[in-house]
Amino acid sequence: MQKIKDFVKKYARLALEILLISGLVAALGLAYWNFAGKKHVVKELAELAEQVEAAQEDTEKVKEALEASEKAMQALEDKQHEFEAVKSAFANGVLLQDIETLYKAQKSLTTERQVGLAALRLLTKGAEDPDTVAAFEKSLEMAEWNTRLQSVCAAQNALAAAGQKVTLLSECQRKSPAKDKDKEPDAKDKHAKKEGDKGHDVHWGYEGDNGPEHWGANFPICAKGKKQSPLNIIGPFEKSKDTIAVAYKEGPLKILNNGHTIQVNVEPGSTLKVNKDEFELLQFHFHRPSEEQIDGKNSAMVAHFVHKSAAGKLAVVGVLLNEGKDNAAIKTLWANLPPTEGQEHVPAKVKFNPSALMPASMSFYAYEGSLTTPPCTEGVNFYILKTGVDISKAQVAKFPFKMNARPVQNLNGRKISAD
Ligand SMILES: [Zn+2]
Repeated sequence: MQKIKDFVKKYARLALEILLISGLVAALGLAYWNFAGKKHVVKELAELAEQVEAAQEDTEKVKEALEASEKAMQALEDKQHEFEAVKSAFANGVLLQDIETLYKAQKSLTTERQVGLAALRLLTKGAEDPDTVAAFEKSLEMAEWNTRLQSVCAAQNALAAAGQKVTLLSECQRKSPAKDKDKEPDAKDKHAKKEGDKGHDVHWGYEGDNGPEHWGANFPICAKGKKQSPLNIIGPFEKSKDTIAVAYKEGPLKILNNGHTIQVNVEPGSTLKVNKDEFELLQFHFHRPSEEQIDGKNSAMVAHFVHKSAAGKLAVVGVLLNEGKDNAAIKTLWANLPPTEGQEHVPAKVKFNPSALMPASMSFYAYEGSLTTPPCTEGVNFYILKTGVDISKAQVAKFPFKMNARPVQNLNGRKISAD
């Protein structure tokens, strides 16, 4: 019991710092959801930046305290985990000037890092520069949804744990009942908690109250956008002026179940060329059945290869998976499906080359569309390859999502082109 009291004392001090740090993270979250109030948020961020700078000096001390408490407090690992997440979000958002140089030298400017860097530019340049605001907005939109959400939830949970009155976003609410802080949790509690975490806190999904027809309630573009994906691809087609070519490289397999799909993250170096513009392959993922229709017909599945240019433009190459023979590349992926939801799984010694999923011909249909998942951001160019690849019935059945396809959207006067 004394141990617990000591920790609570120590934790109270940590909580103060968490407050400052998570304030910034929460503000970033706010900035995303309420971007209409840009100027107001920018001002708040600037104020918070000063406070965070002060907190930064204490980071070393916090780390020591945390390490000490880690030994004594295995039972509170959940909260520590949250704290670490907040701390890393803090690090991403504050030490950026140095980090930017470092990242550039390492050529490892990931989306998450770009969010942090854009946030710093926002803080230093402020609202007088509309390009800065736009870059921040863009980078937030590009960030992997789960990563972004994780930071915000960590901040909110940390605030709640520190005794602050916060309204938790529904995504951040836990299904398992809150633990009694004064009670020393035993092994059974820990187990129960893990079980509880298995249930995904679905905020958007593909069925019922969370289904695509309800996405617009929380993600307005999903309902109001005029250039949404996917589409039913049906002629007559315009002649496309684009030429596309991929140059994908083999790399370590990094696979995750993000609760909505199976996604494979790709290391820098695999590229798509659209005319003379180069796009970096960020990740690819799957939908069952295919989201796109050809003449009103879905394929068994589709793989979406998501690319981004240096200017921040997104291009998706879609490869339709038609029921047929076993697919060797899918076999490798499915053999390494992550054991749990959320965490990126990097099986030892498994290499993967995304080009193993490409058909022989790159002939395509093209249209302007959007992300097919919330927040349904537009300005995404789609290239759906005319030639599909095979996948066996058994392989389709092994995909952990029975249905994760958004229905086809209105064309709204858009032209579909073909090469
Ligand atoms: Zn997709």
